[in-house]
Amino acid sequence: MNDQARLIRLIMELRQTGIADTRVLSVIERIPRDQFVLPNFADQAFENTALPIEQGQTISQPFVVAFMTAALELGDRHRVLEIGTGSGYQAAILSKLCRRVYTIERYKSLLQIAEQRFRDLDMHNIVSRHGDGSVGWPEQAPFDRILATAAAAVVPEALKEQLKDGGILVIPVGRESQHQDIVRIRRDGDTFTEEKMLPVRFVPLVDGIAAEK
Ligand code: SAH
Repeated sequence: MNDQARLIRLIMELRQTGIADTRVLSVIERIPRDQFVLPNFADQAFENTALPIEQGQTISQPFVVAFMTAALELGDRHRVLEIGTGSGYQAAILSKLCRRVYTIERYKSLLQIAEQRFRDLDMHNIVSRHGDGSVGWPEQAPFDRILATAAAAVVPEALKEQLKDGGILVIPVGRESQHQDIVRIRRDGDTFTEEKMLPVRFVPLVDGIAAEK
């Protein structure tokens, strides 16, 4: 089976498992996930599975990427903050559905690889930085939407504070190796409404930047 056939199979599988947002599906169809995985996993890039990336991190399962992207209810004028750039795949998907993506990664080496991918794919509406995303990005706040792609034991207050009124935060919540759920939080003035959406398994959100050789 070639990549095109694998991609079509993946899109069909996402539809069958409940991803109904056609804008999200068409972006997943357009972004070459094979360019965001390690070379020795390229043949699995269009499988509906999470895969390992550098520094013991993971590129999320396409179903989970599609689910979280749809949960954000993105508009094309939105400014979106992503915590945990990782491979850059989720940021690439977001960049096609909103005005600008701000993404933060605590591993400098991962960030550099992702930034090269954004350049190679001419994705110029992604702004990235090396840092601790658990404190958000105060200089660029507030955001219409915030997406964390690493699991928090408790939802960081800074992320709630950096949401615009009417904004949405989507974040996996739960401790490592314990039960985690994707939680959607809507801000209405000073009221935050939480909704558990899907059980998941993510790498943890870790405070501080990562030490690397
Ligand atoms: N969105 C990524 C998923 C990568 S896994 C993708 O599409 O590939 C989650 C990432 O979050 C890891 O790269 C991890 O290093 C990063 N991360 C964990 N805690 C963080 C923090 N406090 N600030 C920034 N990045 C963090």
